[in-house]
Amino acid sequence: MFMERRRALVIGMLTALIVLPAAGAPKAPALAGTPRPEAAPVAVRRAADPGPRFDPPHAVPPPAPATAPGAAEEALRAYTAAGGPRPAVVTTARAVLVGEPESLLREIAAEVEPGIDAVSRVWGEWPRRVVLFLARDRDHASALAGTQAGEFAAIASGGDRVVLAPGPFGRLSPAGRRVVLRHELAHVATRAANTPSLPGWLLEGFADYVGYRDAGIPVPVAARELAEEVRAGRSPERLPGRAAFEAHAARLPQAYEEAWLACRMIADRWGETVLVRLYGQMARDPSETTLRRVLGIGTPELTRLWREHLTATLW
Ligand SMILES: [Zn+2]
Repeated sequence: MFMERRRALVIGMLTALIVLPAAGAPKAPALAGTPRPEAAPVAVRRAADPGPRFDPPHAVPPPAPATAPGAAEEALRAYTAAGGPRPAVVTTARAVLVGEPESLLREIAAEVEPGIDAVSRVWGEWPRRVVLFLARDRDHASALAGTQAGEFAAIASGGDRVVLAPGPFGRLSPAGRRVVLRHELAHVATRAANTPSLPGWLLEGFADYVGYRDAGIPVPVAARELAEEVRAGRSPERLPGRAAFEAHAARLPQAYEEAWLACRMIADRWGETVLVRLYGQMARDPSETTLRRVLGIGTPELTRLWREHLTATLW
């Protein structure tokens, strides 16, 4: 559900064009031991365990803004469970980062605290603790994430964990890394609210909304694939569901772009507070009644406004 495969690569290519040249991709770390195939894929685990009941995010009491005692040791143990040399460990006020190469890990660490704050400005209160693994290679990333997924750049893999795959993530421009990191932090922040019934366009669209919110990337650039379709007269007919975000979906980049622009349109038109409220209430009850109660309109009208928004922003 949090696969970023082609999407993240696209972000990297695009942002490299307009923002900053991509930083040199780190050398692929040597394969360190046999990766340990761990738990079931995220989607399956999430389906079986939707997590704690959702409470409105603003009602959650403020947590202690510090990394839990022992978090670094625990993260290091998890990282090295498959063997291999000791990785670098970086701690910030609210995050533990484990991985290699250390130079990239430190770059990411510098983005984590601003990222946590950026997510919190939109979402409100959440535990604000993150454990972030920069995996040794793709197989190690899969083992850490507990999924056999292929080439994801980043994945929010459960609890407060984010796993970054060194190849795809390392190839992103700094701006692309920031977008992807904030996207994943948004998933971590909203985890308690998420349920399997939350529509895909809200789940991924909200994360991209947070990711892109302060990025300053023009919409037609960030949504290039969808823009091409819209300009060719092939606007999507309906908001993307969960299946549109599966790793091998044919229009994966477009699905993310569609979802992002749906949430962006809602935030523009109704405000961020309403977007957050919609997320929480749709997670509990993804019905037309909920949509109408929060937005005052149903799916047909929302779809019409969204398609208008696509035309207005992507032409
Ligand atoms: Zn995602």
